[in-house]
Amino acid sequence: MATQPRPLLIGGEWIANTDAVIPSVNPATGQLNYEVCAASARHVDAAVDAARSAVAAPGWREMLPHRRARILATIADLIETRAEAFSQAQMLDNGKVLSECRAQALAAAGVFRYYAGVCETLGAEVNPARGAYLSMTVYEPFGVIAAITPWNSPLTMEAQKVAPALAAGNAVILKPSEVTPSAALLLGAAALDAGLPPGILNVLPGTGAVAGDALVRHPQVRFVSFTGGTASGRRIAAIAAEKLMAVALELGGKSPHIVFADADVDAAAAAVADGIFEGTGQSCVAGSRLFVQRAVYDRVIALVAERARALRPALPDTAGAKFGPLSSFAHRDRVEHMVERARAEGGRVVTGGARPDDAALANGAYYLATLIDGLNNEASACREEIFGPVLCALPFDDEDDLVRQANDSAYGLAAGVWTADYRRAWRVARRLEAGTVWINTYKQLSIAAPFGGFKDSGVGREKGIGGVRLYQQAKSVYWGM
Ligand code: NAD
Repeated sequence: MATQPRPLLIGGEWIANTDAVIPSVNPATGQLNYEVCAASARHVDAAVDAARSAVAAPGWREMLPHRRARILATIADLIETRAEAFSQAQMLDNGKVLSECRAQALAAAGVFRYYAGVCETLGAEVNPARGAYLSMTVYEPFGVIAAITPWNSPLTMEAQKVAPALAAGNAVILKPSEVTPSAALLLGAAALDAGLPPGILNVLPGTGAVAGDALVRHPQVRFVSFTGGTASGRRIAAIAAEKLMAVALELGGKSPHIVFADADVDAAAAAVADGIFEGTGQSCVAGSRLFVQRAVYDRVIALVAERARALRPALPDTAGAKFGPLSSFAHRDRVEHMVERARAEGGRVVTGGARPDDAALANGAYYLATLIDGLNNEASACREEIFGPVLCALPFDDEDDLVRQANDSAYGLAAGVWTADYRRAWRVARRLEAGTVWINTYKQLSIAAPFGGFKDSGVGREKGIGGVRLYQQAKSVYWGM
């Protein structure tokens, strides 16, 4: 008997009466995992109605912060006890290696725990008075907010939006990527089990064009927190401008990873390889442009190429697997096409540039870790986000030349600098146009530090204590004395 498509979560009820379903295909094997119900505009209306009622009910509106915090902490506990189910679900949906999925499930629990702490301790402000009054600033939730997420790391990204939005006192409608709906559905179930009032978290799998678009346009959705591609972000921002609605947009990147000649070259090369190839390159902060000072260029390229060759693609649940498939077959084809274009533009493929020659992986969406040199910063492979395991290496002469090239990008999400000169490290870090800069390390991320992009990489900052303020509006109250 065929299994039923997985239902939507609206107002605490599991809803299966959709006209459309979306298949989830395992990119590691090409096999069908399951089907999921796809939300239509009608489901968006129902979810917004449920969220509005739930957020206006005294049970949530008047819940004291320390009680709200307790629910968030219970969600954290449930994610932790169900970590294996969360990890397997993400792995089947997007092919990420199981060890990384497990780490992300625990990180998601940590995000809920962090925002439980913030929820309980965040206060209001008393402002300096300029007359006979007391002036205070308090922070109110928006009401109903939408969270729209991509497929590369749903476990952590959904936690990073839902936890602070709930801590702020909102009701949330979470629309996961159509490629990876299952982690969001598990999160919805955990939230109900933790005692979150029904309707405060609704989960609507569906396409961006139908469910995502209807959510963004809905007049009662007063804030959208979006992570995804820059083109989608622009479309959402245009609709938000018409509605005069605030948005947070975490978008794409083309991050420079920089190695000066005085750096610890072995440590730098290891971090450069991890910085692009971890997650099979499907990370918004992937260091996809490698800038190396000319004196050590050949040496660094050789070391990175050696590491790339050692990354043998494997089924994501194989013991010790480090390098899985791309998240979908369509995405693998796109990555392949961009490497072909780089070749046509004069790029030299140092290693990779092909599907693996391994019969056991022939049905999956695999692509080898790829290093390209011989291009300049104008080439499409250095301009456009590939979002796959493709690193472009470029030499530079001096600091000014480096900063000019590194900043010559539409994006500004992250950057890494390797140098033994602490003055230069600081100078360059300050000159780089990026929301996050790593010095002599790469891809360290903490929920306690604000995260977001410069330029086309986004608007607004998630994470940190301000991650709760993102989902609130300030209200100043004057009290005559
Ligand atoms: P995408 O923009 O195609 O989709 C992201 C989400 O938005 C999905 O849920 C999709 O259904 C929805 N969506 C698409 N069009 C929409 C529309 N018009 N209205 C409303 N919703 C819409 O991106 P993707 O391919 O899923 O993810 C890859 C992209 O995400 C990459 O560009 C990557 O850099 C970016 N990303 C950024 C960060 C970050 O924090 N900056 C993190 C991870 C991924």
